[in-house]
Amino acid sequence: MPAIKDDALVLRRLDYSESSQILVVLTRTHGLRRLIAKGAKRSTKTRFVPGIDLLERGWVVFLPGSRSDSHLGTLTEWLQTEAYLGLRTALPQWYAAQYAADVTVAAMEEAEPHVDLFDALAGLLGALSAGRSPLPEVVGYQCALLRSLGLWPDLSRCVLCDRVAPPGRAAYYGFHQGGLVCSQCVPAAGQVRKVGAAVLTSLRESDWPPDTVGPALALLDETLRHLIGRGTLLAKLDQGKVGSKQV
Ligand SMILES: [Zn+2]
Repeated sequence: MPAIKDDALVLRRLDYSESSQILVVLTRTHGLRRLIAKGAKRSTKTRFVPGIDLLERGWVVFLPGSRSDSHLGTLTEWLQTEAYLGLRTALPQWYAAQYAADVTVAAMEEAEPHVDLFDALAGLLGALSAGRSPLPEVVGYQCALLRSLGLWPDLSRCVLCDRVAPPGRAAYYGFHQGGLVCSQCVPAAGQVRKVGAAVLTSLRESDWPPDTVGPALALLDETLRHLIGRGTLLAKLDQGKVGSKQV
């Protein structure tokens, strides 16, 4: 197979043997890829950390893997284009970026391109690196992730009986259904959570005032946890502002 060249973000990095790393990168037009970077840790002279760093952007050249090696591709070139240095000196922004990278790896299928999501993640890392407040940026990215994967919850009607949900009212949210559930359908819905009117308005309008950003983020995090079947790095984000109890 010919080599592939693409714009990429490093979402996960694992040391492998003395000199190599296994990377999970999100490429712009070739989706999520797992790559082995042989000898990456040797080329360290001009870098501030050895090897290829987590949450940096660069031009990648790789040989795609085959089915026999679990699709592990081989990285042949890496040219860093953006180090997002601001992330590395601000812990809240760093944790927010790690959260986004982790849920992206967990939620995406490999080798399925989502150009819009790549752009959203690059935008998030840029905003966080510039010192923007993490919570509105992360909740915006959660929305982009769910929309890009076709998993955005239906907040306009009951997903079980199609009854229209009136705007400006609190409603029940069903995690298994991925959307609102009317009070009559709640007994059939399994796990639900009552969501306040202001939070629903924020989610519908993608507007994140300080009083709804934390609850909206917690609700979307719980949605993501149902989809990926495991926990997230939410605990590392600001616990003072994020909490499902406030939803
Ligand atoms: Zn219903």
